[in-house]
Amino acid sequence: MPTKFKNEPFTDFSKPANKKAMQQALAKVRKELGKDHPLVIGGEEIMTQDKLYSYNPAKPGEVVGVFSKANQELAGKAIETAATTFETWKNVPAKKRAEYIFKAAALMRKRKFEFSAMLTYEVGKTWPEADADTAEAIDFLEFYGREMLRYAGPQPVTEIKEEKNELRYIPLGVGVVVPPWNFALAILVGMTSAAIVTGNTVVLKPSSDSPTIGWKFFELMREVGLPAGVFNFVAGSGAAVGDLMVAHPKTRFISFTGSKEVGTHINELAAKVQPGQIWLKRVVAEMGGKDSILIDNETDLDAAAQATVASAFGFQGQKCSAASRAIVVGSIYDKFVEKVAEKTKALKVGLPEDQSNYMGPVVNKGSMEKILNYIETGVKEGGRIVAGGKRAQGDGYFVEPTVIADVDPKATIAQEEIFGPVLAVIKARNFDHALEIANNTEFGLTGGIWTKNKKKQERAKNEFHVGNFYINRKITRNVIQQILQLL
Ligand code: NDP
Repeated sequence: MPTKFKNEPFTDFSKPANKKAMQQALAKVRKELGKDHPLVIGGEEIMTQDKLYSYNPAKPGEVVGVFSKANQELAGKAIETAATTFETWKNVPAKKRAEYIFKAAALMRKRKFEFSAMLTYEVGKTWPEADADTAEAIDFLEFYGREMLRYAGPQPVTEIKEEKNELRYIPLGVGVVVPPWNFALAILVGMTSAAIVTGNTVVLKPSSDSPTIGWKFFELMREVGLPAGVFNFVAGSGAAVGDLMVAHPKTRFISFTGSKEVGTHINELAAKVQPGQIWLKRVVAEMGGKDSILIDNETDLDAAAQATVASAFGFQGQKCSAASRAIVVGSIYDKFVEKVAEKTKALKVGLPEDQSNYMGPVVNKGSMEKILNYIETGVKEGGRIVAGGKRAQGDGYFVEPTVIADVDPKATIAQEEIFGPVLAVIKARNFDHALEIANNTEFGLTGGIWTKNKKKQERAKNEFHVGNFYINRKITRNVIQQILQLL
């Protein structure tokens, strides 16, 4: 039996040995950049003429990886191959399947700095952000391996006299895995390994902004000896091959994390039964957010301002859980805005490979332009820029961390997901009004409250409608937690 699950610790980069290891990994991985990678279907490596280029967002001239793009025929072949492989993989005992996953966790832990270095180059993560992404990927492997063993064991059922009943979990079939670029390793690894360890086969279509990280994980799984065809690697544009893979009659489920627009489209398409399809498809869709941090007047303002800045600007605000709205109870509003602006102006933006920078670039040019447009809209609709507001220096896609005060609760930047380093500050009349604003978007992902008042904390636990809720801490950096079985 494996040991009890525990979270992978974050690396302390103030220790000289860790700092050196990261520097060495950055140097090693830089030499690997620009390589040409195939599609892999059923173990067969396939090169196509049509290529997908992944660039370093901090140095857009630097190619991180070149990928053969799948066309519709190859995407279809990948699903068919995964369906054939399922017939053998589903019979591999759970314990054996979990062993592959545990081996992968051990290897990734050994090469932790290399995975983190690739995250730095491909999506612009600073050292601690990259390290947290890799640590979460290891957690997923360790966690799902253990969960599989638990699910494979006897399950409790209500006893019925003179009957012998049992509950068993069986695999579904082919899973299409569609991850985003922002937790380019953790989410990709989590969705892929959960599907594989539970006895399904996978066709992975990595994000076009981060295929090299996906490739690194694919290679790791080959190295641990996963049979060919269990995990198929199909790079290509989501718009070009995504619909075919989702709609394919042999696809049994789709694990998706990404934007609301793409997620709702996938959900709709997957719901339509195709000719030749048996059973209904299942969709797991984790989508966008518009997360608020509520600052009550009964709080430690300095700590609240610090947590708000950390929640808003870690990884350039490109987290589904990033604080993009600070809702502040009236009497402390001016002081809070002043403190947040001051702390934001002190943040250093630059190359993420340089340990001294707090923020790197946003993921690509389109994203940078979209963010700058939102800033303009925020001002047009009455907002007041108190920090940042424009492109930051450098050749890459750098945007200054931006705080816009006096934002109307219904303004565009208070409602739409920006996915960049922009914080809208909204004034509330009192605590009731603050809660009402906190619940006024169509999203419900993450949120938090800063107050010393226990009654307000309790009210917010019930009335603040989000999945992940935090009290008196920043609202990002959640870690996997094992929910204890009470049965
Ligand atoms: P997108 O929705 O743009 O893309 C996500 C994935 O979907 C990519 O791999 C993309 O491929 C693919 N895709 C695009 N169109 C299709 C299609 N028609 N069929 C199948 N796949 C398709 O999201 P981003 O990658 O930009 O990620 C950021 C978003 O993810 C934000 O909204 C963020 O909030 C959300 N997110 C949510 C999390 C959560 O837990 N709720 C966690 C992390 C992020 P391609 O790149 O080729 O276009």
